[in-house]
Amino acid sequence: MPCIHESVKMKIRQLLRTGWRHHLHRSSLSSHHIFYVTLGTFCIGVFYCEYLIYFASIWWCSWPALQCLDGQGGEEAPLRAMILADTHVLGPWAHWLDKARREWQMWRSFQTALYLLQPAVVFILGDLFDKADVTSLQQFEEDLRRFRVIFSVPSHIPLICAAGNHDIGFHYKISDKGRSRFERRFVPKSVYRYSLSGMDFVILNSMAFENDGCTMCREAQKLLSDLSRSLNKAEVRPVVLQHFPLYRESDAECSQDDAAPSSEKNISFRPKWDCLSREASQELLEKLSPRALFSGHTHHGCYQEHFLQDGEPAPEWTVASFNWRNKINPSFLMVSVCKSELKVGRCHLPNEHTVFFLYGLLISLIVLGGLIITFRFKASSKLKK
Ligand SMILES: [Zn+2]
Ligand SMILES: [Zn+2]
Repeated sequence: MPCIHESVKMKIRQLLRTGWRHHLHRSSLSSHHIFYVTLGTFCIGVFYCEYLIYFASIWWCSWPALQCLDGQGGEEAPLRAMILADTHVLGPWAHWLDKARREWQMWRSFQTALYLLQPAVVFILGDLFDKADVTSLQQFEEDLRRFRVIFSVPSHIPLICAAGNHDIGFHYKISDKGRSRFERRFVPKSVYRYSLSGMDFVILNSMAFENDGCTMCREAQKLLSDLSRSLNKAEVRPVVLQHFPLYRESDAECSQDDAAPSSEKNISFRPKWDCLSREASQELLEKLSPRALFSGHTHHGCYQEHFLQDGEPAPEWTVASFNWRNKINPSFLMVSVCKSELKVGRCHLPNEHTVFFLYGLLISLIVLGGLIITFRFKASSKLKK
């Protein structure tokens, strides 16, 4: 008589041996389904990481609220200025992949910001290019063409760009040719007054404030004195925009969320390299009496308070780099300004670590999908045997 106990044991052994194959084989999803679900999720993931993520980040940014009086008891809309810095559009020697990725990121975020935020004016505070201080005219024209594509603006939005050391060189390196090719395309002078909605914006070439008596510095001094005299008659103090920050010892006091990492914060600034000299900074404060200053160059955000001779504060915002090559979490400023008041907000762009993490998840998903399909294929082949 066959042993019932033995036959049950055999059945269990068989189930254990082939059970998981049965399970995979008889699952309601076919291999084709799994393939298409994996591929679909991967495509949606890439679309999110490369396109939608910019909308998702900038969607949360809003202009600082400001109530502006027009002087006759009524209200007027504030001017909305978007300020970015250090775009560093890569030059001819950069790797094509690095170039393509950085340019895509900047183009997508800039165009998304224009679309969602509708600024009235855009300022870029120097280092527009990465290597324009050393490129030939032909290479400069090519970089300029790409810059114009990435930062294209509709005709009703002015785009005002200051010179940075990567655009024309540090003071010791500036050639007349290099400076004039930049000034022909962007801000035409070392000290340039730009008026909008009855307010003055002064755009400076920071490298022209070395005060060593060179032609460029003498020219800048004269322009500055002339401007100072005419600004005395203006009813509103100007806003100053330039590449170098005013003199400060380091970034140690900067506490914004886009400030330098703690490992860099205490590194001492070298005047005339990392910031303006103490004398030049003092002179600008005295002659221009700015109500606010904006700068770039350090690639990290900062807020610093300076004071004029009469004790009035002159706050300065240093804007972080807009290029992911220099900053893992770039940002730009959104400034609402009218004659009586000025408020500043920051808009954060996607953190590249988040993007890498999402790509890690997507790759894991593909590996998992591939493994399931392979096991199913093996399981069904064994069952057929
Ligand atoms: Zn710079
Ligand atoms: Zn820079």
